[in-house]
Amino acid sequence: MNSKIERIKKLKKKRIWPSILGLVVISSLFAIVLAILVEVSIYDMFKRKTLTNMSQIKPMVDMFEDYENNKESIQEQVNSYIDETSEAEAVWVTDLDGNKIWATSDKMPNLDNKVSLDFLDKNIVHIVIAEEETNIAVNVDGDIVFRDNIFDKIGIVKILKDGWSGDKEIIRAKIWTINEDNNLKVYVLQDIVIYSQDCFMLVMAVVLFGIMMAIFILYYLISLISLIKNMRRISKILYSDVITGGNNWLYFEKKGNKLLKRRLKNKYYAVIHFKIRKFRSFCTCFGVNEGNALVEQLYNVMKKQIERKELLVYKDNASFGLLLTYTDEQQLRDRIDALIVSLNEVLSNMKLYFAVGIYTVDKKDSDIEQLYSNAVLACDKLGEEAENKIIFYDVEMNKRRVWERKVEDDMDAALANHEFQVYLQPKISTNKEELAGAEALVRWIHPTEGFIPPNKFIPIFERNGFILKLDDYMLEEIAKQQAQWIEQGHNLVPISVNVSRAHFAKDGLAEHICSIVDKYKVPHQFIELELTESAFFDDKEILINTVRKLREYGFIVSMDDFGAGYSSLNSLKELQLDVLKLDADFFRGVESVDRGMLIVSEVIDLAKKLNMKIVAEGIESREQVEFLTEQECDLIQGYFYSKPMPISEFEVKYR
Ligand code: C2E
Ligand code: CA
Ligand code: CA
Repeated sequence: MNSKIERIKKLKKKRIWPSILGLVVISSLFAIVLAILVEVSIYDMFKRKTLTNMSQIKPMVDMFEDYENNKESIQEQVNSYIDETSEAEAVWVTDLDGNKIWATSDKMPNLDNKVSLDFLDKNIVHIVIAEEETNIAVNVDGDIVFRDNIFDKIGIVKILKDGWSGDKEIIRAKIWTINEDNNLKVYVLQDIVIYSQDCFMLVMAVVLFGIMMAIFILYYLISLISLIKNMRRISKILYSDVITGGNNWLYFEKKGNKLLKRRLKNKYYAVIHFKIRKFRSFCTCFGVNEGNALVEQLYNVMKKQIERKELLVYKDNASFGLLLTYTDEQQLRDRIDALIVSLNEVLSNMKLYFAVGIYTVDKKDSDIEQLYSNAVLACDKLGEEAENKIIFYDVEMNKRRVWERKVEDDMDAALANHEFQVYLQPKISTNKEELAGAEALVRWIHPTEGFIPPNKFIPIFERNGFILKLDDYMLEEIAKQQAQWIEQGHNLVPISVNVSRAHFAKDGLAEHICSIVDKYKVPHQFIELELTESAFFDDKEILINTVRKLREYGFIVSMDDFGAGYSSLNSLKELQLDVLKLDADFFRGVESVDRGMLIVSEVIDLAKKLNMKIVAEGIESREQVEFLTEQECDLIQGYFYSKPMPISEFEVKYR
């Protein structure tokens, strides 16, 4: 599930980030290209303006070739030239050593700043930075540097705002040029002005470019927005549940983990598995559509009772997942009770029952999926009864689960490696006080865990079906053992094996048992099969048939654990059996010993009338033995005589 969320996240990043990045890269590229365009154009305009100026002042400069002879007239002509033309502003004349000869005004060049402009003829013309107010500087390599912001210089906004009058000054630069001939250096101060009309093409280009850029960026933005919208839509589909229309499990996980990261202060959190009991029966009666409609209605009722920062989801299999906040355990219980009450208002003609597993979130807990599975684990302990029940998860449950996994991992190898051992517990007759039978009980001698009693693994095997293999193994071991004792000339007593109720799920059990025993040619009357009454709850027909066949084949069939749990005398009426094993519960923990004993004697009486033998199990004291002997109970199995023991020990004691 987590990897799915990751994949979706990646998908989102993959699609949006390149678009945003593309937008940024392309807009900056546009901006750079625009800046270069402006810079290059201005440089070009400046260059052309300067060259034009140079050609225009050339005749004036040429006059100085004849300076020595016509000083007066040249000075006059130059002065009037300066007054009349805008290209030249001042002239300053020196000899070749730099001594001033004549000037039109006080303005003089700063000779320290002398540099060359690469586009001017280097042999005759040099240039010097002009006055302070100029907005163009020339660096030592001769490149022009515009001191201020380029857009201020060309004044696009200004031009557009003032209208197109054409004679607005955009750039004004004052530069000195040096004109050197044989005897003199003639410095001319030029006034270079770029008017708005000169920038017409540039402004048009900038505007066009700007429009293109705006259109492009707009297009990009629109597609980005629609992409984001699509992502949202996908998220919505991705995170909604088809049955309830609410959020689904994926959302629950994502949001739940977020909420658990940023928990509210003064609040505790609980992850809850909320299961509708007998939902399958409901669907069988009313159909799946009705079932789904019920789920939706229940969801809507629950949703109303869910606060902000809490979550509700329909998981599957008739169960809801919740993340609730609470202040103390009682408050949480009350809230769930109230929830159950309001859920029961949904169907007027039928009562609904719920099983609720609660995991109270610890400070260090973070992964909601894991926490939810704990809630499920707790809920699974509640059984299938039609009853409302709430259970809190405890650590033991998890330990049990870990154990269960280990058992399941190891069981196949254990069977192959003969780690399961047969122990025998004798059954002693009351009249002669001698061995009259034995029960085979399994023990697991685990290579690392050591001795494991059956109650730690039999229930697990019963759930996962491995019990079928184990019971076969036990039966075969017993058949083998009996065959060996026959061969050794011992007198046999019947040995019973336990037959789990799981065997009755399919037909042919009697034949199956026969085939195992017959491999070793053991007479059937020396094999006893202990069935528990609970097998009766599954398929009565199969059970009755199997028992009948087994007895026809000559096996002894007994009912185990009679009196434990839900025994009913009814089963005795329907099932023809050879032996009734009274459960140890009969003799233990009875509040009134007299009443207990009365029941025992009545049951023994009844069984006798039904032609059954009686075995009393779990007998630990002499008083019990005496009482049972008096009541004519046939056999006694219990620690009073002996605990279950390995076959080798059994052989020493009883063979
Ligand atoms: P069960 O068939 O009712 O077996 C009798 C249990 O009572 C045995 O426990 C036995 O050790 C115990 N017991 C006998 N006498 C006394 C006594 O005087 N006092 C007390 N306190 N206990 C006594 P065990 O061997 O631990 O077996 C427990 C259960 O595990 C068995 O109950 C049976 O249901 C199951 N089981 C054991 N081996 C197998 C097997 O091979 N196959 C199947 N399907 N179930 C088995
Ligand atoms: Ca038994
Ligand atoms: Ca028993």
